[in-house]
Amino acid sequence: MPTPRIAWIGLGLMGSPMAENLLKAGYPVRGHTLEPEKLARLAAAGGEPTASVAEAVRGADVVVTMLPADPQVEAVALGDDGVLAHAAPGTLLIDMSTVAPRTSIMLAEAAAAAGRGVRVLDAPVSGGESGAVEGVLSIMVGGAREDFDRAGPLFRALGTTVVHCGPHGSGQTVKAANQLVVAVNIQACAEAVVFLEKAGVDLPAALEVLRGGLAGSTVLERKKHNFLTRDFTPGFRIDLHHKDMGIVTEAARAVGAAIPLGGVAAGLVAAARAQGDGGLDHSALLRGVERLSGMVTGTAPGAAA
Ligand code: NAD
Repeated sequence: MPTPRIAWIGLGLMGSPMAENLLKAGYPVRGHTLEPEKLARLAAAGGEPTASVAEAVRGADVVVTMLPADPQVEAVALGDDGVLAHAAPGTLLIDMSTVAPRTSIMLAEAAAAAGRGVRVLDAPVSGGESGAVEGVLSIMVGGAREDFDRAGPLFRALGTTVVHCGPHGSGQTVKAANQLVVAVNIQACAEAVVFLEKAGVDLPAALEVLRGGLAGSTVLERKKHNFLTRDFTPGFRIDLHHKDMGIVTEAARAVGAAIPLGGVAAGLVAAARAQGDGGLDHSALLRGVERLSGMVTGTAPGAAA
């Protein structure tokens, strides 16, 4: 079988390194995104930048979208000059952005209604920018099993844990649960950091021993440096986690699941954003705990005075 030709839409923090991993794996990649410097980066990596979604999609076997949120995914997929308007019959559209499960279901229904044989998968990821760069993402996939199988080699060029979770929207439901666990975990770590510091315990030593016990987590592993140095360069922005907490609270409510800690975490993420920290890494939830504990005054680093 010839190597599938890829159209990649959305070359941000995640999309750029992911598209580059496909290039390294031998896939031809045409890409489109809004920032000229990201298009230049794709060209430097051996890809072909394009001026529009339509141009990227023309001649592609697989279209991948890695966009900020639901409105951008809907516009790029369903717009007059979007993916469904230009994709060839039989194209596989894989949305790897994090959006609401109902958006993924709606997208699959719209593709089916268009009647041109465009297949759709939702395939959000976890693992952050470092996971994208290293090609070790967790990929949670919703849609038909045969489409999942068709995309298998592509997924394996991007991640190491690739799981078919069920029908359309299932990948996004699992991702919403992921974001719930991550937010609560970061908040708990941040509270532990402030508690330990106020108690006068050696913080690096404390985090090292916590890491090895039942309190250890990938969050603690990956965010330890941010906590210790107060470097909140994103990473994963609080603005995006705010969007994801909206998704999980709404999706849980829709199925009658009570997620009280999720509600609290959603409020704390929203508060961080309201305090001007939306552009910081989500480990900056620590700043919220510091504020509550009387440790921080002033605005976020880089925030307008
Ligand atoms: P980002 O803001 O860095 O990148 C988004 C890209 O989409 C930008 O390059 C932008 O130009 C492009 N874009 C927006 N509208 C467009 C349009 N109409 N046409 C073409 N391109 C358009 O975001 P990111 O951090 O790469 O995240 C992308 C998605 O992945 C989000 O849904 C996010 O929640 C999810 N995610 C992010 C991380 C992370 O650590 N950053 C981890 C897991 C999942």
